[in-house]
Amino acid sequence: MPFKQLGLPDTLVRASQAMGYAQPTPIQLRAIPAVLGGRDLIGSAQTGTGKTAAFAMPILARLGAHRKGPPRVLVLEPTRELAAQVETSFRELGRFTDLRAAVIHGGVGYGSQRAALRNGTDILIATTGRLLDFLQEKALSLAGIEVLVLDEVDRMLDMGFINDVRRIVSQCPPRRQTLFFSATVPPEIEAVARFALRDPERIEIGRARSVTETVTHKLCPVLHEQKFELLLALLNRTDFKSVIIFSRTKHGADRIARRLKAAGHPAATLHSNRSQNQRTEALAGFKSGRYDVLVATDIAARGIDVSGVSHVINFDVPEKPDDYVHRIGRTGRAAAEGDALMLVTPEESGDVRDIERFIGARIERLALDGFPYANGAPPHIDTSRPMQNPRRKGGGQHQRGGGNGGLAKGSRGQNQSRSAGGRPHGGAHPGHHPKGKPGQHWRRGGR
Ligand code: AMP
Repeated sequence: MPFKQLGLPDTLVRASQAMGYAQPTPIQLRAIPAVLGGRDLIGSAQTGTGKTAAFAMPILARLGAHRKGPPRVLVLEPTRELAAQVETSFRELGRFTDLRAAVIHGGVGYGSQRAALRNGTDILIATTGRLLDFLQEKALSLAGIEVLVLDEVDRMLDMGFINDVRRIVSQCPPRRQTLFFSATVPPEIEAVARFALRDPERIEIGRARSVTETVTHKLCPVLHEQKFELLLALLNRTDFKSVIIFSRTKHGADRIARRLKAAGHPAATLHSNRSQNQRTEALAGFKSGRYDVLVATDIAARGIDVSGVSHVINFDVPEKPDDYVHRIGRTGRAAAEGDALMLVTPEESGDVRDIERFIGARIERLALDGFPYANGAPPHIDTSRPMQNPRRKGGGQHQRGGGNGGLAKGSRGQNQSRSAGGRPHGGAHPGHHPKGKPGQHWRRGGR
């Protein structure tokens, strides 16, 4: 079904054509008519499914034309990068209208944001902290809000912003339309939804826990002391266009970037200890192709849309199973093919087990042909039995299956492995190869 049959005005149908959108994605097919009809909405959709346009297009359609006065739409985002990206989407999709969008977030000066608010904006995209600052100094009123969008609510919960979100919601007029997006809806989030929404329509696209179908994802067993060496070997042998390397910690990200630079792979770095200028420069440099490697913590894992990311490498296993899905969702966006690899030491096998249970599938093992593995073969990553570590609470308690089941969050303790490691792997060739030449450099791990 083409965009024009969804009830969108011509200005937006033309914008979708200008953006190169041939037809609506599944979430757009369902959300656009619901939002145009004025309904509240809870949407859970996989990352990279066209969620932003699914809410931005009908919102722009409902607003019509610019009007003087306070903002009529407020979009809350968990990170500065997402806020900036969503503002860009509103601008691009609203290019044939005179509607105005502005973004406010921390990490930069107040001056230009204050000026944007004074000049008047129809749509305000914000992170919570800076928005509360402006509300406190009465530089902004939310009394005119007609549509409130709470985006990536599970991320806001993880980042400790949920009380700020509640404070902001209670400053918006009770008569409004509220759109609520969250990859998962555990009980804490359900409670926020009950507080913020009225008789919402629920839209769930795909299983929130499944890996994007267009991503081939595998894990590479390796001993801790050979991790960086394996990373380098993968980078040297893989014909990647652009790759995001995920590190669990900011310190780890800096260290990886330093070592990559020393090995002749200059990389941009994105994490929350960097200044906003550095973050903006890193993302812009990566998007423009100046850097083909971006080393990031999970701040970059949610929602950041960089087209053409050909590979994601998890240098370490993500802290929470749902972050695995988000991290590798950076590649294979909007149905492009992508590859995701995760370097795993025997110490991390318990975390991998949690991920496998979360996504409901075993992750294929890969051994790199010709790599000088310390014991002559990659170590064994045993995910068949639960961890025996008493400090680790909640491991293996994740509910299976799709939908909005309660995800046992914050369940990590310090991981101790009970895996002996060092079991030899088999040598079958996989059907897929990152360079598109099956089996040339890769062989399947035996376990
Ligand atoms: P999002 O899930 O909002 O982050 O969108 C992911 C990517 O899909 C962005 O690059 C969008 O520009 C793109 N996109 C959104 N809607 C469509 C569509 N209908 N057809 C093709 N690409 C789209």
